[in-house]
Amino acid sequence: MKHGIILKSDMDQWFDSLKKRGKVYGPKKKESAFVFGLVHAFKEMSLSYIPTILPPKKYYLPPKESLFKFKIKPYEAAKATTAFEEFILFGVHTCDIAGIQCMDVIFNENPADPNYLSRKEKITIIGIECLDYCDSYATCASVGTHIHKGGYDIMLTDLGTAYLVHINSEKGEHLIKGKKYIRELDLETRKKWDKIIEEKNKKFKNEFKAELPEVSKVFEEGFFSPVWEDVGKRCVGCTNCTAVCPTCYCFDVIDDVSLNLSDGERSRVWSYCQMDDFARVATGEDFRPGRGPRQRHRYFRKFKYSVLKYNKYFCTGCGRCTRTCMAKISLKETVNGLLDEKRGKG
Ligand code: SF4
Ligand code: SF4
Repeated sequence: MKHGIILKSDMDQWFDSLKKRGKVYGPKKKESAFVFGLVHAFKEMSLSYIPTILPPKKYYLPPKESLFKFKIKPYEAAKATTAFEEFILFGVHTCDIAGIQCMDVIFNENPADPNYLSRKEKITIIGIECLDYCDSYATCASVGTHIHKGGYDIMLTDLGTAYLVHINSEKGEHLIKGKKYIRELDLETRKKWDKIIEEKNKKFKNEFKAELPEVSKVFEEGFFSPVWEDVGKRCVGCTNCTAVCPTCYCFDVIDDVSLNLSDGERSRVWSYCQMDDFARVATGEDFRPGRGPRQRHRYFRKFKYSVLKYNKYFCTGCGRCTRTCMAKISLKETVNGLLDEKRGKG
């Protein structure tokens, strides 16, 4: 079966069957925001949510991950951490799935990253399609991530009293196998689905003032734009924008050694290009001094360098950087500012 239907009243029993396969993580309300966390019952999740504080990237590349433990006195050869558990990520937005697809490109590059790839193999993704904007910060239509383009095992689309279930992998097939309450898509529901998608497409509009090829062009020509000076003056260097981004993948490797110096642990931790000393080298020179050049670098990593290297935009339009920015720097306004400048309206 490629497309099935499940009544909302049957979601509890389906969810319980998923739990038997391992832990399930999903979007949950936390104060005024949402986070991905461990879920025990379907009703604990909020499937209508604005993007979570941290993207589900945290399950593929944890903020701090143990690489191995070592012993110095007496010395013992260290063994890499390789045991990862199987689990399900439920209710992932299409923009965050696009973020995981960007990470896949990076961590599959030679030499491939065994920790990332082993984790990925163990994770099953059940996505949820957005039928309207989560809020005004999102720019998903500009990069086309409001539409799913693979990278998931099952995708759910809300049809009112039921969900459309798109099965996209063998893993996905296992999750619905033998579930009599998930029936095959019929013609009448197909028409209803088409209508819902027609309505959805009317709601999403390119949030940038130009299509992506023109956006790429302004990035080619806009390296010395005054836009970066303005952004640099406002930025307070908190690094939030890079910490929450689903496609930022920089990390550092650190050793924690015990006080008696006999053993320790090597970990990798997230690192951010917005940190003051990120581009400073041992002899003291800083290749990106100041917040303007550092912010420009962040944008160029999303809209130019990744396009040149991988033919892929590394912005999913999730809006997290704007939503979290202490200085109210907006990605949409920055990109549109560059476009205005090129068109002589700056
Ligand atoms: S740059 Fe901002 S909008 Fe784009 S993917 Fe990163 S956090 Fe989301
Ligand atoms: S979140 Fe805003 S203030 Fe903080 S580093 Fe990013 S752009 Fe600067």
